[in-house]
Amino acid sequence: MRIKDIETIVVGAPTPGNGRLSNRNYIFVLVHTDDGITGLGEATLEGHDRSVLGAIEDLRSLVIGEDPARISYITQKLRRQKFWGGGVIKGSAIAGIELALWDIAGRRAQLPVHALIGGAIRDRIRVYANGWTGGALDKEQIKDGAQRAYERGYRAFKFSTAVASEPVRDAEITRLIVTMAETIREAVGPDSAIMLDGHGRYDRHLAVQIARGLADVDLLFFEEPVQPHRVDDMAAVAGQAPMPIAAGERLTTKEEVLPYLTASALAVVQPDLAHCHGFAEARDIAALADAFGSWAAPHAPMSPLVAVASLHLDATLPNFLIQERLLLDDWRDRVILPPLEVSDGYIDVPSGPGWGIELDMNLCRSKPEIVVEMPQLTRADGSVADW
Ligand SMILES: [Mg+2]
Repeated sequence: MRIKDIETIVVGAPTPGNGRLSNRNYIFVLVHTDDGITGLGEATLEGHDRSVLGAIEDLRSLVIGEDPARISYITQKLRRQKFWGGGVIKGSAIAGIELALWDIAGRRAQLPVHALIGGAIRDRIRVYANGWTGGALDKEQIKDGAQRAYERGYRAFKFSTAVASEPVRDAEITRLIVTMAETIREAVGPDSAIMLDGHGRYDRHLAVQIARGLADVDLLFFEEPVQPHRVDDMAAVAGQAPMPIAAGERLTTKEEVLPYLTASALAVVQPDLAHCHGFAEARDIAALADAFGSWAAPHAPMSPLVAVASLHLDATLPNFLIQERLLLDDWRDRVILPPLEVSDGYIDVPSGPGWGIELDMNLCRSKPEIVVEMPQLTRADGSVADW
């Protein structure tokens, strides 16, 4: 069997909600083989569609004609044979291709991907909802959103406050976040998990102020309290915050993750299978974290395709904590068939060959590419803040 072609499909998937959430195009990668099997991957990277599509184009000649079963060999070629690393752009392009190769391997063997790497060690995967606030800051809207997500079967809820903050001390943003967290706790009860995504918006001092303000809410973790390339800051926050610290969606190799683990900065690592060069690197990152007594909670706020790929990995990890899932609640859930079902906080381990899903091509082709505008946050003095 040989790889005949790589096809990319761009699906416009606008995100509803208050202008505080990022829009996105889904970038699906289809790897076609000469015996008729097609594997599915995803390389979605919000706001960088042309860059990722260009990177896939640049890598195409290294893949065509190869045996798709040689996943590690092909990934090595993609990572090493063009001299330049490419950070998250190239990491996403390679991930899209690599994920499709795993799907081909599973379809060929008529086994789910998790069965190719030792099999599932659990029957169902604990998930949390993200995106369910729709970017709202209003208490009533937050309460309604949390209750709706609860009714959809979720028992764990991540929130974020996409508002610019001032450096070092910001009582207003701290109050806003604490109020949001308390509102969610009230809506979902004491037994549900709550997580805050700081999105790298804060410096180490403000992050600690916010973390201490949240001490009584009992968070499962505080994600990206500071920018994700500041190891010392992350470690400082981890040393002073009353809850575990998580990060990793913007780290694309095990080498990038290692210094956080040696510095005891991360209780939870969050590899993104569509950004970190794919399934195998995400597994390596999770194994590395396990050696340091840290937990894995794969990041997956794109289409449900990468969420499904993540479930296959989650099923096999001894140190798996919880899986991210974007609460879409519209046609975006149905770009994969069958759609994912959340029940009592869990999704069943997928059982079909490969990823166990197909893309609804008619639906995908009916949603043309959109111009992706990311929210733009500015501080009181007009300077640029991180979204
Ligand atoms: Mg995040």
